[in-house]
Parts: sequence; C-alpha cells; structure tokens
Amino acid sequence: MNKYDTIVIGGGPSGMMASIGSSYYGHSTMLIEKNRRLGKKLSMTGGGRCNVTNNANIDEIIENIPGNGRFLHSTFSQFDNQDIINFFQDNGTPLKEEDHGRMFPTTDKSMTIINALIDKMKELGVTIKTKVEVVSVKKTGDFFVVKTSDKEEYQASRVIVATGGKTYPSTGSTGFGHEIARRFDIPLTDLRPSESPLIMNKPIKDLQGISMDDVTVKVGKKTIVHDILFTHFGLSGPAALRASTYIKEPTNIYLDLFDNLNQEELVKKWLTFDENKAIKNSLKSEFQERVLLYLLNIVGIEPQTPLKQVSKQKLQELAHLAKNWELAIEKTFSLEKSFVTAGGVELKNINPKTLESKTVPGLYFVGEVLDINAHTGGYNITSALATGWVAGTN
Ligand SMILES: Cc1cc2nc3c(=O)[nH]c(=O)nc-3n(C[C@H](O)[C@H](O)[C@H](O)COP(=O)(O)OP(=O)(O)OC[C@H]3O[C@@H](n4cnc5c(N)ncnc54)[C@H](O)[C@@H]3O)c2cc1C
Repeated sequence: MNKYDTIVIGGGPSGMMASIGSSYYGHSTMLIEKNRRLGKKLSMTGGGRCNVTNNANIDEIIENIPGNGRFLHSTFSQFDNQDIINFFQDNGTPLKEEDHGRMFPTTDKSMTIINALIDKMKELGVTIKTKVEVVSVKKTGDFFVVKTSDKEEYQASRVIVATGGKTYPSTGSTGFGHEIARRFDIPLTDLRPSESPLIMNKPIKDLQGISMDDVTVKVGKKTIVHDILFTHFGLSGPAALRASTYIKEPTNIYLDLFDNLNQEELVKKWLTFDENKAIKNSLKSEFQERVLLYLLNIVGIEPQTPLKQVSKQKLQELAHLAKNWELAIEKTFSLEKSFVTAGGVELKNINPKTLESKTVPGLYFVGEVLDINAHTGGYNITSALATGWVAGTN
C-alpha cells in the first residue's frame, strides 16, 4: 500500500491549493480527482475567464459570504485575497481587476489559472492522480485508508476533503464529501440552492437579453445593488443570483431604476427634457429603449405622445413604476442548476484555525463542501483557495 502524509480528495480550487500548501512544507502529498482534468468547475466561472478572487477589503469579502462568512476570519488572517493575488503574480500569472473588484487572469483564459496551480503542484512534487474516483475513506488507528475506483488503496496520516458542493454535478461535484462526513458521524446542515437564477411566472419576452447595470433590487427587507439580466425564463445576473438567497417561496421583488432620486425629483427632472419630442425620444437617455416601451405600455402612455401632452399624473405613474417595478418570482432553479451549494459540513465540528474536524483528528474539510456559501464575484473561490491553503499548511 502506498503511503502519503496527506491525501487530498478533489481537484477543484480548494483541493489544488490544499495540495500546494501541504507539499510546500515538505509533506508527501497525493491529489485524487475523478475527472480527466483538474478544475472543471473553476474553468466555468467568470464566463470561462475564471473569476479567481475579488479585490475588496476583508470586511467586504466577509459581507459577500452570506453563508457563515464570519467563520473565515481565522482563515483569512492566515491567507486572504491579497495572498491569492500575490500567489498568482509570483507564479507568472498576473491578475487584473474588473467591475465590482472581480479579479481575472490578464489572459482572460481560465486555463492560465488552472495551469498555474498545476505547475506549482508539479514543482512541489505533488502526486496527481486523475480519472480515478475515491470510493471510500476509513480510519484505522492514526491512519486513513483511501480506496479508489481502480481498486488501489492508499494510506495517509491526514485526508483533506475538497470535493465541492452539489451544483452542476456534471463537473464532478456530486456530494461525495458529504458522504464521508456522514460516514464519520460529522453533522451536515441541509443543502439548498444558492446563487440561483430566478424563474418568473410570466417571463417578460419583450425584455429578453436586456441587461441593466447597478439596479437596486428589493427582496423582503433586503436591498441589493448590482447588475440584472432579463432571460427567457426570468432573471439572471449577479443581482438575481444574490436575491435568490432570500427567496424560499413565490415572492415579489421590486426594481428601483432610479435609486438616487425620489419620485417627485424624477418627474421634475423629466419635465426639463425636450417637451416637443415624443416621450419615447425625450426620455431616451433615461431608459434602454425596450425597457421604456415596456414601462410606457404598462402605464398606458402612447410612446409617440409629445412629452408636453403627457399628464403630470401619468408621469407620476411612470416614475412610480420605474422606482417600484414589481416582478413576480415563482422559484429559484434546482440545487443542481444553481451556481453554489448552501449548507454542508457543519462548522461547529470544524476548527476554524486549521479546518480539521474536531471529532476526527486528521480529517479536514475545505471549499464548498463546508457550510459556507458566497456570492458570485470571486468570493466562493477566495473561500475555496484560502481554506485549501490553511488546511494544507497545518
Ligand atoms: C457556472 C458556475 C459559475 C460560477 N461562478 C462563480 C464566480 O463567478 N465566482 C465565484 O466565486 N464562484 C463561482 N462559482 C462557484 C465556484 O466555482 C465554486 O464555489 C468552487 O469551484 C468550489 O471549489 P471547490 O474546490 O470547493 O469544489 P469544486 O470546484 O466543485 O471541485 C471539487 C472537485 O472534487 C472532485 N471530486 C468529487 N468527488 C470526488 C471523488 N469521490 N473522488 C475524486 N474526486 C472527486 C470533483 O470532480 C471536482 O473536480 C460558480 C459555479 C458555477 C457552477
């Protein structure tokens, strides 16, 4: 039986970084990934460009991790987003910042990030086994025995579980880590979809493909300001994904397209525009054309009507609608089709300084398998890479 100091299960961002951390301190390390290639889900983030972290300060990062972000204080005090940026810079993969602090490789190619992680693992002598699935993990005495689908057995004094959540199972994240937790009587919290697009009762066909920047979205008592996208099923884009966290049943959400002005101020502003032009032209700078036509239709204003002929009452109605645009949401996507899994290995069982189980010494959990979920924008990957490093180096 081959023996290693550390066996890492799962070759996503958390598992690759855990392997780097472990081998960096001279521990013999093997990474086992069931896919042919490493980082399959990671390659899909940021529209295929790999949104590897976010340049926000730590308080903002934690705010953007609505699922137990505060648990990560200790992790981030050891390895944070700036360490991630420096790690890639030092390994020949500079990053660039885009809107909302999102960080991407300057190449705009996710393979650059994945290759940087693979090169580092190779440089440090990590044994990488792909196309092999871990089928069981047992503990005898101080050692773990890890069995794989090719009927091999490996022994290790510690095992790092980096198997991800349960979304997009075609990427390999099928919840095996939760099974390991169950096997060792480590409690799990319920798995739920998070960062999910929103399905509407009546998707707005006329607005399909429309994307609006920095819209204020109100869902219950929560307010989110981010970009939103109208799709054939309903809504997507970061604002919709964030809102999904708060949607458990059919709910109305409200868009405010003019957060910086109240209704009266908005009408007053519109009355300074060219009053002889058709309203659809005089308000052109305020709305995208299809949005304006859609809203005018709801309020019952004929688009060709000159602005001066539109009653103040109707303008008030239009302003009210633009600031309180009600959209009926039926539900979120299923867990499998959402971006992130909420719930997972219960954090009470995990030492926040090391990511080691409190009840099973030598067994560590990192990344999305934990009961931690973040907004898209690089925050999940930040959590995955940082927890991976901390578990690996401990
Ligand atoms: C479409 C999409 C877009 C996203 N966009 C963003 C974004 O913009 N920003 C952001 O922060 N997050 C984003 N995410 C979320 C982010 O990708 C994940 O949170 C992150 O990849 C989790 O990393 P991980 O290492 O914990 O798990 P994963 O990346 O899921 O990796 C787990 C790995 O474990 C392997 N594995 C599982 N079981 C076994 C086994 N038994 N044996 C061997 N290997 C096994 C799997 O094959 C997989 O490769 C997105 C997710 C999706 C699906």
